[in-house]
Amino acid sequence: MLISDLIPQSAIHNRKLKDMLLDPFRRKINYLRISITDRCNLRCRYCMPEEGMSLISHEEILTYEEIVRIVRVFSREGISKVRLTGGEPLIRKGIVNFISCLSQIEEIKDLSLTTNGILLKEFAQDLKKVGLKRINISLDSLRRERFHQITRRDDFERVWIGIEEALRVGLSPIKINMVAIRGLNDDEIESFARLTLHLPLTIRYIEYMPSGNGEEWKESDILTTPQIRNRLENVGKLIPILSDPWDGPAKRFQIEGAIGEIGLIGAISSHFCDECNRLRLTPDGKIRTCLFSDEEIDVKELLRTGGSDLDLKERLLTALKKKPERHPINTHQFKKCQRNMSAIGG
Ligand code: SAM
Ligand code: SF4
Repeated sequence: MLISDLIPQSAIHNRKLKDMLLDPFRRKINYLRISITDRCNLRCRYCMPEEGMSLISHEEILTYEEIVRIVRVFSREGISKVRLTGGEPLIRKGIVNFISCLSQIEEIKDLSLTTNGILLKEFAQDLKKVGLKRINISLDSLRRERFHQITRRDDFERVWIGIEEALRVGLSPIKINMVAIRGLNDDEIESFARLTLHLPLTIRYIEYMPSGNGEEWKESDILTTPQIRNRLENVGKLIPILSDPWDGPAKRFQIEGAIGEIGLIGAISSHFCDECNRLRLTPDGKIRTCLFSDEEIDVKELLRTGGSDLDLKERLLTALKKKPERHPINTHQFKKCQRNMSAIGG
């Protein structure tokens, strides 16, 4: 539903207001998260099995041209934030040119990328040059052996060098995403926070979520954001930073005297569905209305059978209408989503 469907045409003076996308629960939807590949150069235990992942065939994966067209059409309707994710987005060939094309779409005010950081040393400079401003890097341990245990690859050094390179070329902000899992890496919560004392990094703690192909998820493995917050108090006084509700779900803090920031993302304990502003696009061209809903709206078939921009817009509006009010975790309706996190983009 467009906001313009709810108010008389004559009342629309402000173009920005007219272009807002509202879902049936009157949430403003302005954010598209695009998984550009389901392939990855790591095998994080909570996300993928070591072997036997069934992958989307190359022909089924949207081309960059197709994605750019989708973003152009959607951006005219009110999408102004785009995040590229995966799988690992930096392993897809031609990513730098693709980002350059996206960064030229005038209506996209915020373009970002989530990466595991393995290839950042090679890419950070070029990404910055073509217009990427900020970046999220996933890292769950600062210890080489534990990193190996979690990701099944001995690549901690490469990620750390990638983070240093991102700092050097001036990508900002740089957010480090840490999934805190009880008994696996929760003893490093404080060490991550201490990084913010002397580096301009934002450390974001993410609650462990159930996902299609990760290792068996148990509710008891989750560290909730209040529990994480308690641990952080050991490092120093936490000073809240005001966040705009449309900015994203993280509750922001700074440790007294730190130069970096802390973010807490309570995907499960505090479910932030009321403030959800996002839709997702899978590598094979399906719009997903929620990370935890398997309802998908196909746009690839439309693109490949001569669909017009107007048809694409209609699909966007259909997706919007189907956006659920909240995710079903902690309710009796909950079941793990069928798709793997790497095909949804986390
Ligand atoms: N490969 C890139 C990376 O790891 O940053 C991008 C894709 S990854 C699926 C996106 C994010 O989802 C990462 O920060 C990852 O830690 C997070 N993620 C994956 N599985 C998760 C789970 N079961 N619970 C919480 N976060 C998860
Ligand atoms: Fe790959 Fe990211 Fe999943 Fe880890 S979390 S396996 S890096 S897609």
